[in-house]
Amino acid sequence: MIPYGRQTIEEDDIQAVVDVLKSDYLTTGPKITEFEQRVAEYVGVKYAVAISNGTAALHAACFAAGIGTGDEVITTPLTFAASANCVLYCGGTPVFADVDSRTYNIDSADIERKITSKTKAIIAVHLAGQPCDMDAIHKIAEEHHLFVIEDGAHALGSVYKGEKIGGLSDMTTFSFHPVKPITTGEGGMIVTNNKDLYQRLVMFRSHGITRDETLMMRNDGPWFYQQVDLGYNYRITDIQCALGCSQMNKIDRFLTRRKEIVKRYNDAFEDYENIITPYQLPDTESGWHLYIVQVKNCNRREVFEKLRNLGIDVNVHYIPVYMHPYYQKHGYADVHCPNAEKLYSHFLSLPLYPTLSEKDQKYVIEKVIECVR
Ligand SMILES: *Cc1c(COP(=O)(O)O)cnc(C)c1O
Repeated sequence: MIPYGRQTIEEDDIQAVVDVLKSDYLTTGPKITEFEQRVAEYVGVKYAVAISNGTAALHAACFAAGIGTGDEVITTPLTFAASANCVLYCGGTPVFADVDSRTYNIDSADIERKITSKTKAIIAVHLAGQPCDMDAIHKIAEEHHLFVIEDGAHALGSVYKGEKIGGLSDMTTFSFHPVKPITTGEGGMIVTNNKDLYQRLVMFRSHGITRDETLMMRNDGPWFYQQVDLGYNYRITDIQCALGCSQMNKIDRFLTRRKEIVKRYNDAFEDYENIITPYQLPDTESGWHLYIVQVKNCNRREVFEKLRNLGIDVNVHYIPVYMHPYYQKHGYADVHCPNAEKLYSHFLSLPLYPTLSEKDQKYVIEKVIECVR
């Protein structure tokens, strides 16, 4: 089976993990700080908080933004459920704005339509690594005094108008699940330039507990710490962060490989009107986490099943979040985002990962063309 995505683990990645296993720290130790610094430097932000996974990163960001009962948060339906679930964790209400049918990302015009007096934040998701129209989103956010959180799970290394995704908004989250741009097994990170948010994120990661005297109500002595908020155990381990540091050495090489593979796909499908290749917003660079095409004038399900039977692990990203039974049962039965639903019915994600061989890619191209004809 040719998977749709997979990790790239090399000898030095393995050695980095083995070294930590022989060291004094397995969990909160020096590798966490090192990994945070590596990512912060790479995306160009002041603060980074490594956390147990990308979902915890989103939960932490919503907490730090102060999202609570009664607050509405606008996000896209074309994403993994976690981008909306994080709002529910905090007692808030996700509100879905439709997507732009060219970029597949949240449509700023529909964000405006969905704003109410309860709207508190926007969670922008860079689907497949393609940056959202951040200028338009920031303009709306400023006008309405909203927080902007970017779900950058697909977008480590993506560039918007010359700047890497990460430093553009109040907070940006990343995921290091094995299919994502780099991996720590499970893992995530929140980056920000705001010190207050940073302090809240750090506390949230570990039970709401702090040893920082400036954040405590009193100090009984050198042993002292206080729980000043309700947090969780969302800590990541040094074992994982050692892998993360090693992977950060390779991020640009991974991105280059993804770009090369995408170019070959785009060139190969250029002349086939039944295959709509991804559109690229001007002045942006996608990290190409996914290669999503739309298949037209054919039965998507049949194409999907044929390709799976041919050993090609195609996928569909994503089922609009509000269509899931949990959302249907909890107030979203009448929600419709026509563009998202239409795109969903045509979407197909093709294999894309740095170690995808030229031979395997040729096979995928040949079979996809055969199946949509
Ligand atoms: C993977 C992903 C997440 C969640 O990350 P985990 O590390 O798996 O918890 C959140 N949002 C999007 C868009 C994702 O693709």
